[in-house]
Order: sequence, then C-alpha cells, then structure tokens
Amino acid sequence: MEKKFYELPELKYGYKDLEPYISEEQLTIHHTKHHQAYVDGANALLKKFDEARANDTDFDIKAAAKELSFHVSGFVLHMLFWDNMGPADKYGGEPNGIIADYIKKDFGSFERFKKEFSQAAISTEGSGWAVLTFCKRTDRLFIEQIEKHNVNVIPRFTVLMVLDVWEHAYYLDYKNVRPDFVEAFWNIVNWDEVNKRTENWLNTPL
Ligand code: MN
Repeated sequence: MEKKFYELPELKYGYKDLEPYISEEQLTIHHTKHHQAYVDGANALLKKFDEARANDTDFDIKAAAKELSFHVSGFVLHMLFWDNMGPADKYGGEPNGIIADYIKKDFGSFERFKKEFSQAAISTEGSGWAVLTFCKRTDRLFIEQIEKHNVNVIPRFTVLMVLDVWEHAYYLDYKNVRPDFVEAFWNIVNWDEVNKRTENWLNTPL
C-alpha cells in the first residue's frame, strides 16, 4: 500500500474574497505560510516515523506524540476554518436551518450564542481557537476554547465551526484589537457549511 502525506488544501474562494473583514495579504500569509507550516511539521514527523521503522532505530516517542498532536490538530482546524467562512455578499448574518434550531434550543437566541462564542474567542489565552461542537449523547451544542491547537479538545465531538484567534490570524488587519476581528468574523460565517456539518453528524451513528 502507498504511504500518504498531508497536503495544503486549496481555498474554496479567492484571497480577496473575505475583504474587508480579512485582507488579501492577511489571508494569503495565513494560508500559504502558517497553514503550510503545519502541513510541513506533520509530514516531517511521518517521515521520521517511516525512516526509524525502516532502519529499526529509536526516536523520542513522547516528544513526537506531542508534536504530532500539535501539527495535525493545527492542520485540521485550519481546513475547517477556511470552509466555515465565505464572501460576505453571500454569507454572514444570522443562521437558518438545523443549526438555527439547535442554537435556539441550547442558547435561547442567536444573540446569546454570538455573545458566548465571541467571549470564548476574545478570552482565549495566548494562541487558540473558539470552537462550536456537538455532543451526540446529550444532543447539545457546546462552545469549546482550544488552547494552541490541541489543548481542551473533547474526543468524539464533531467540530461545527471554528474561529482562529492566534495573532497570526488577524494581526496585519487588526493589530492587537482581537475583539474587532471577532466581530468581523460574523460577517463571513458560512452557515451553509455549518448546517452541512451538523446534518452529517446527525446522520453518523453514535
Ligand atoms: Mn491560524
């Protein structure tokens, strides 16, 4: 069987298409430099594993496991992030569909949900993510605050929507004013994608 590696996915929109909320320069660097770094970091580890096994040599498995979690989680979260955004002329605003129903059930209103998710994004210490996830056992939406790319993750919850609040995600456009970036994000949320993820998850056995 063939050995595969991670690849940087293409964006489903152009680098200018999230303006004025995310600039062409910011999005280009974020995708081609930062996301690429996680692809490279993860693949370097895969090569290390392949080589060590081919030569029957040892490596520091504890350090490698930690690095693997960081790089692969970074890779996956960025993929999810690109796809849960889209041009403001088509997306943004309030959701409809199944996700709107769940938000109403669990948060009472979209405004309440937006406030909690924004607070999670603004208060993430250092580098991290605000994440909307879904627990099938309780049929509830949860807001998670992932530190780095991999701390506070709850296994077997699916990710419905993420917001990257690493400084590299917004610093060119918003400098140190993270709350302005978080507020801008609501104009470019692709709720169709969030709905698709929710439907797929509901159709997946527990
Ligand atoms: Mn990022």
